[in-house]
Amino acid sequence: MRLKDKVALITGAGNGIGRETAMLFAQEGAAVVVVDVNDDAGGQTVAAVEAAGGRASYVRADVSKAADCENMVAQAEKAFGKLNVIFNNAGISHKDDDDAITTSEEVWDLTFDINVKGVWLGCKYGIPALRRAGGGSVINTASFVALLGAATPQLAYTASKGAVLAMSRELATVHARENIRVNALCPGPLHTELLMKYLNTPEKKQRRLVHIPMGRFGQAKEIAYAALYLASDESSFVTGTAFSVDGGITAAYTTPE
Ligand code: NAD
Repeated sequence: MRLKDKVALITGAGNGIGRETAMLFAQEGAAVVVVDVNDDAGGQTVAAVEAAGGRASYVRADVSKAADCENMVAQAEKAFGKLNVIFNNAGISHKDDDDAITTSEEVWDLTFDINVKGVWLGCKYGIPALRRAGGGSVINTASFVALLGAATPQLAYTASKGAVLAMSRELATVHARENIRVNALCPGPLHTELLMKYLNTPEKKQRRLVHIPMGRFGQAKEIAYAALYLASDESSFVTGTAFSVDGGITAAYTTPE
C-alpha cells in the first residue's frame, strides 16, 4: 500500500479528480478527509470509499473562506490524529469567464477567491498541520493553461492557474527544508463535468481535441494516479514541479491528422 498510515485531505472531493483521488488514496491505505461545498456529492464520495473498505470522513468547507479552511484542517486532525497530505484541488471554471473585455469583475473575483485564495488558505492552515506531523506533501491543482494560452479565452481561469503554479514554486522553495514538498499538478483537458459543461457542443469539443496529440480527453483517474505519486514517499525528491499529465498538449505545436 503506497499511502499506508497517511492522512490526506482533498478539497473538491465530491466530484471529478477529487473524488477519483479520494477513492484511490483510500485504496492505497490513506484515511481521507473529503472536503466540498456540495454536501450530497461529498457524502457520496465518503459512501463510495467506505463501500470499498476504506476510511473517510466529510467536512463541508468553502475553500475561499478562512474559517472554513481552518476548520477543515482541525477536523482532519481530530478525526484521524494528524495530516500528511493536502490536495488543494477545488476549483471552478465560470461559464461567463471570457476575454479581457467581456469578463465581469464579479466573475474575475469569484474565480480568484476559489482557485487562488482557496489554495493559499489550504496552505495557510494545512502547512502548520504538516509541520506537526513532521513533514508532508502539498499538491495544488493548476492546469495546462498555466503554461499555454488558449484562443477560446477563459482569462480569469487561466490567470488563476498561473497564480497557483507560481505560488506552488515559492511554497516549495520556502518549505523544502522542513520536509514539506509542494507540487503543482497540471492536468490537460479532462472528461469531467467542469470541462464538459464548458465544451458543450461536438464542435467545441473537437476544437480542443485537435490540440491533444493523444486525440482524446483525459480521465479523472489518470490525474488521481499522478496525485498518488506526488502524495506518496516515492516522490521524496520531487518538489516545486509543474507536473503535467496532459496527453502531450504542452509538448505539441501541431498534432497528427
Ligand atoms: P469538478 O467540477 O468535477 O469538481 C470540482 C469539485 O469542487 C466539485 O465537487 C465542487 O462542488 C467543488 N467545489 C467548487 N467550489 C468549491 C469551493 N469553493 N470549496 C470547496 N469545494 C468546491 O472539477 P474537476 O474537473 O474535477 O476539477 C478539479 C480541479 O482540476 C479544478 O481545480 C480544475 O480547475 C482543475 N482542472 C480541471 C481540468 C479539466 O479538464 N476538468 C483541467 C485542468 C485542471
